[in-house]
Amino acid sequence: MSSDIETIVIGAGVIGLAAGRALAEAGQEVLVLEQAALVGSEISARNSEVIHAGLYYPPGSLKARFCVEGRKALYQFCRENGVIANRCGKLVVATQESEVPKLEALAENAKANGIRDPVLLSGAEARSLEPALACEAALLSPSTGVVDSHGFMQALEGHITSKAGQIVLNTRVTGATPRSGSGFELAIESDGAAGHITCDRLVNAAGLGASEIGAYLHLEGDYRPPQTYPAKGHYYQVTGPVPFRHLIYPLPEGAWLGLHLTFDCGGKAKLGPDLEWVESIDYAFDDSDGARLATFSREARRYWPSLPAGALAPDYTGIRPKIYRKEEPAADFAIHGPETHGLPNFVGLYGIESPGLTSSLAIGSYLAELLSVRSPSCS
Ligand SMILES: Cc1cc2nc3c(=O)[nH]c(=O)nc-3n(C[C@H](O)[C@H](O)[C@H](O)COP(=O)(O)OP(=O)(O)OC[C@H]3O[C@@H](n4cnc5c(N)ncnc54)[C@H](O)[C@@H]3O)c2cc1C
Repeated sequence: MSSDIETIVIGAGVIGLAAGRALAEAGQEVLVLEQAALVGSEISARNSEVIHAGLYYPPGSLKARFCVEGRKALYQFCRENGVIANRCGKLVVATQESEVPKLEALAENAKANGIRDPVLLSGAEARSLEPALACEAALLSPSTGVVDSHGFMQALEGHITSKAGQIVLNTRVTGATPRSGSGFELAIESDGAAGHITCDRLVNAAGLGASEIGAYLHLEGDYRPPQTYPAKGHYYQVTGPVPFRHLIYPLPEGAWLGLHLTFDCGGKAKLGPDLEWVESIDYAFDDSDGARLATFSREARRYWPSLPAGALAPDYTGIRPKIYRKEEPAADFAIHGPETHGLPNFVGLYGIESPGLTSSLAIGSYLAELLSVRSPSCS
């Protein structure tokens, strides 16, 4: 039974675009379907834009593997495609003596993930790099940086459309079923009109909508796609001068990286994101009682004591697509191919939270492999 198109990718965030690029460069005819009027306007537009080194993730996890591979691929891609990336480095700080063993454990974890360049510094050594910093010790990660994520997504778009690929906006997938024999049929709504489209291969990269699409496809059999639990993060912009050249991170608390100070490629500095488990997807910035601002100011002053009063202004929020509940241990990326769910020629991606931006090119190459098409080199 012939299909309308070889491969459909649902979702034009950074993961769907990286998948579309890998598949198009492997010679596939690819259609990326996106419900919004713009590419990359959901999770991929509302993050810290940090190119993570891979310090935090459990050795052997997909997060560790794809972060390390993806970081190298991302710096190279940016160099080759004129996308701005700034390898500014970061300092993870122990602000009390009692935190120093945690910093040392983080350095060991980085080593286990194959990251050779982090350096443990005394408080004095850290202050010689960043005089405004308060800390007892720090871990310097020279290969951490920031990327112009929108420039990156635009470049991915160019790679897709310059091969046999198309990105179709304003098109929502409202249903998906495996066809008898092979392939898939998708129900779509585009500009108010309903329709159907068929494909041989399918990638579900719908971010916060991925579990819903997975549920359409797996009505039969024992496999169920992971459920998504949204977790919101707020950012405050730092107005006025910022005395740091490196990104500054406190020690992580579980899987949360703590309220960190980062800047984008244009130099705009921000603090965040915090972690608030929410019931629904709503990007409103709520701080009606001032409690959030007070927490941000207090936490930032642990490592930046001279943060001026009045320097923080509400900026934006983002929502993490977590696939575990607040009380459960953190989960790895869930990238489920046929060996997991039994449906040939389908890959579903769930829980692609941080470091998803850093990992995107490596994930794209992996998807092309899972779907058994030759992938572009990721390194
Ligand atoms: C607060 C925060 C900070 C982060 N910071 C970092 C960081 O510093 N570094 C890093 O590496 N990673 C970071 N991340 C993670 C990173 O942003 C994500 O992993 C990545 O952007 C996920 O991309 P995506 O393509 O999976 O999702 P999205 O960008 O959300 O893309 C999915 C797309 O699918 C579309 N869609 C959904 N349902 C449908 C449907 N039914 N039909 C058609 N289209 C549909 C959506 O409109 C959306 O555009 C952060 C994430 C958050 C939330």
